[in-house]
Amino acid sequence: MKIERIEVYHVRMPLLRPWRAGHGDEAAIESIFVKLVSGRLYGWGESSPLATPTYSPEWAGGLFLVLARYMAPQVLGKEVASGEALQALLAPVKGNHFAKAALDQAWWDMHARGLGQPLWKSLGGRKSVVKVGADFGVKDSFAELLSEIEAAVKAGYLRVKLKYRPGWALEMIREVRSAFPTQIFHVDCNSTYTLSDLPMFRELDAFGLAMIEQPLMHDDLVDHAKLQKEIDTPICLDESITSVSKARKAIELKSCGWINIKPGRVGGLTNALAIHDVCARAGMPCWVGGMLESSLGAHQCLALATLPNFTYPNDVFPSHTYYRTDLCDPPVVLSGVSEITAPDTPGSGAEPNPRRLQDQTIAREVISL
Ligand code: MG
Repeated sequence: MKIERIEVYHVRMPLLRPWRAGHGDEAAIESIFVKLVSGRLYGWGESSPLATPTYSPEWAGGLFLVLARYMAPQVLGKEVASGEALQALLAPVKGNHFAKAALDQAWWDMHARGLGQPLWKSLGGRKSVVKVGADFGVKDSFAELLSEIEAAVKAGYLRVKLKYRPGWALEMIREVRSAFPTQIFHVDCNSTYTLSDLPMFRELDAFGLAMIEQPLMHDDLVDHAKLQKEIDTPICLDESITSVSKARKAIELKSCGWINIKPGRVGGLTNALAIHDVCARAGMPCWVGGMLESSLGAHQCLALATLPNFTYPNDVFPSHTYYRTDLCDPPVVLSGVSEITAPDTPGSGAEPNPRRLQDQTIAREVISL
């Protein structure tokens, strides 16, 4: 497929309620959409690193610039036959994983549309039904959190993830565990702690959590290996795993018992598939994470989650959880209890609503032959 036109959009999507986690508080999600065009074919990708460089070193404004100035010119006019070929074209640009992901995911969508195949089948997925979990950020009170968890438990969610940060930590877990003694929970620290917090992690060990997500620094592997030796609860790495190489090193160092794969964080679906395969060969189980993307990004995560080594309920959410109206069509909806089904339409199954895209775009750049 010769890439003849690349459109880059920086969009702002207001959340129904602020999302509060260890890395900071978000009132809106800023996301980057990329449209690739080749003849009559096109594909859409979405990558959301958030509005500020607080979850990772990348941010939406930076993505827009690096895509428009450096990456799109590397790809424009080139024949791109595979995800690996696209990644090779982008290799001179160091890092910038979320930016590469926007192009990579648009390529995969276009590739699947060209085959007349749903994306999940093009990626090698086995079954279209994906198990999903419920997530809760920091709330104003424990009572508010407990009532939201109660609704999720009644709805049959297989697991519940809780954001965890100083001030919303052991005391919160104590309340939650005593109210829901048998529900599967895990916590996500978003890299807010250090090894000096070992006594706290030893106390946390007693609450029977499924895992502790990214307790330490966002790019660390070595201290996580030290912490993992000291506690029984498996560590799940998220922020630290930005490439196939980092996944391999985490496995070798025994830094974790789980790996969360987000297509954006690792440079796109091409690398997500490679990490999935490295983990499967090593016996390291995985699950798919998200960045509160629109339905487009969520559909890309959903397609990835159909692969066999994603064995824990994934972070793909119905659109109405976070947005009044999703920027993309169709919205994500549950297809059963704690599950969402990847669609059988060609490509990811979602794309921006033209009117809402126009209304919510902050900046746009078009590069064409
Ligand atoms: Mg996380």
